[in-house]
Amino acid sequence: MQILKTVQEVRQFRATCSGNVGFVPTMGALHAGHAQLLKSSVSQNDHTIVSIFVNPTQFLAGEDLDRYPRTPEADIKICELCGVDAIFMPDANEIYSQIEPKILAPKELSSTLEGATRPGHFDGVCTVLTKFFNIINPTNAYFGKKDAQQLLIVQHMVKSLFMPINIVPVDIVRSSDGLALSSRNSYLNDDELAQALKLSRSLMKASNLIKANKLNSLEIKDAMSSCLEPLKVDYIAIVDKSLKPIDSIELGNTIILIAVYVSNTRLIDNLWV
Ligand code: AMP
Repeated sequence: MQILKTVQEVRQFRATCSGNVGFVPTMGALHAGHAQLLKSSVSQNDHTIVSIFVNPTQFLAGEDLDRYPRTPEADIKICELCGVDAIFMPDANEIYSQIEPKILAPKELSSTLEGATRPGHFDGVCTVLTKFFNIINPTNAYFGKKDAQQLLIVQHMVKSLFMPINIVPVDIVRSSDGLALSSRNSYLNDDELAQALKLSRSLMKASNLIKANKLNSLEIKDAMSSCLEPLKVDYIAIVDKSLKPIDSIELGNTIILIAVYVSNTRLIDNLWV
C-alpha cells in the first residue's frame, strides 16, 4: 500500500491503474463504518484510493477542527487490512492556496438540516470533493448514508456538473447496541455513550410506528421527541429525497433525520424508509 502526500504523487499512481478505480473520501479516525466503505470499494474495483484529510473549509469558526480526532497510524493499518492500494494524506497547503474558488452547494439542499446550523459546511464539502475528484479521477466514489444530506448533495453535484463518477451509497454501520459509528463518538464518556443510544432508539421507535402503518409525520416526531428526552434536540426532520418536509411517510422516498446534542457533542443519525 502506498502513502501519497502530494497531488503529483497521486497523479503518478493513478496513471499506473488500469480498470476501475474506487475512491473513499474520509477525515480519518477510521472505524468499522469507514471500513465498510473501504471493503465495498476494494471488492467492486480494481484499485482503491482513500483520502484522509480533515478538510478545514467544511468546519465553521468555533467548530472542532483543532480537536477533531487524528489517528494516522491506526488509520493506515485499517486501510492495509481492508486491501486499499493507496492513501492520499495531503497537508492543507497541498490542497488550498491563499486565493481559492469555491463550489457552492445548491441552497435548496444545503440551507436546511445540517446546513441550518452549519452554514457554508456543504460548500466546503463540495469544494474539497471537486478537487479530490479532479485529482483522482475515480470510477466510483463511496459515501455513507450516515451523512444523508451530504450524500444527496454530492449525488446532485456530480449529476449537475456532469462529473463522470458513479456515487455509491453505503448503509450505516452501527455498534451492537444500535449507536451509529462516528469519529465524534470518541468525545463521549461512558455516561454520554449510554445517552447517545437514545438517537438510534428514537429511530427504531419511528420504524416500529411505520411498520404499524402509523405514517403521520407529526405523530412520529412526537414519539421520537419523547424517546430523546432529556437531550437537547437540534432537529427531527421527516423529508423526501429532495429534503422537503413531508406530512406523511412515503415508502421508498422518505428519510428521517435527527441531530442531537449529547453534552457538547452534536451527533446525527437517520433512517431511510
Ligand atoms: P468522515 O470521515 O466522518 O468524513 O466520513 C467519511 C465517510 O464515511 C462518509 O461518507 C461517511 O458518511 C461515512 N461514514 C461515517 N460513519 C459511518 C457509519 N457509521 N456507517 C457508514 N458510513 C459511515
